[in-house]
Amino acid sequence: MTGRLIGKVALVTGGTKGIGLSFAQRFVEEGAKGVITGRHVDLGEAALATINAPDALSFMQQDTSDDQEWPQIIKAVQDKFGKLDILVNNAGICFFKDIEHTTAAEWRKIQSINLDGVFFGTKYALIAMKDHGGSIINMSSIEGLIGEPMLAAYNASKGGVRLFSKSAALYAAKEGYNVRINTVHPGYIHTPLVDCAPDVVTHEEQLTPMGHLGEPVDIANMCVFLASDESKFATGAEFVVDGGYTAQ
Ligand code: NAP
Repeated sequence: MTGRLIGKVALVTGGTKGIGLSFAQRFVEEGAKGVITGRHVDLGEAALATINAPDALSFMQQDTSDDQEWPQIIKAVQDKFGKLDILVNNAGICFFKDIEHTTAAEWRKIQSINLDGVFFGTKYALIAMKDHGGSIINMSSIEGLIGEPMLAAYNASKGGVRLFSKSAALYAAKEGYNVRINTVHPGYIHTPLVDCAPDVVTHEEQLTPMGHLGEPVDIANMCVFLASDESKFATGAEFVVDGGYTAQ
């Protein structure tokens, strides 16, 4: 621990596995306290047992696509830890479907979590942070920067996160709120989301110039920087961590 986040209070959505779990681990290592959320209580309890920092980290059940739950979650964080300094809108889902075979229900499902959820979180966190400042980190993807024929709905959701975040960041800056809003764009990372499809892993290893997928901590380390005051002049910006994928 080097204490880069001492005194900060964080909320990480989808913090029970994969990249979000790594955020929680690194944030606690750097001295932050806070809450991870997810839909499944058993995953939340397992994540808390893994990190083993009962004074620093709690779990709350949340579906980020539900607008009604957001004010309650943020109030619960404030009641428990006194404030909110950092929100990572990390919760997300993905499935591989081209435009011809994506149903309306599948399209709406992915937008409701990946895009609506990010909108709700950013809106309510901005309201909670605008008097004292904070950092909002929205999880996009390289798939928010480039197209992939088998990711029609996912591309749309992650591209939406990218530009929505710039709009929100500009609004916050022009209002004089000390709230920074940035996006992170991982390449392919070993998580349950990706590792459940071994053919995708093999294919993406071949497409990644560094020759291998990333690890969750590669993204978590970027988020420690964005969550800390070290990034105090960064807002409305996009931070790519992809092993060279989008440099091609
Ligand atoms: P993951 O391993 O599937 O974990 C997803 C997390 O989000 C879980 O904690 C899950 O818990 C939670 N979640 C899903 N839907 C939710 C909802 N509606 N409300 C609250 N929590 C929800 O995924 P990951 O690979 O770590 O991905 C994390 C983020 O990074 C996503 O936004 C993803 O699009 C993005 N990303 C991933 C990669 C990659 O290669 N892995 C690359 C670029 C971007 P529950 O199921 O219990 O809710």
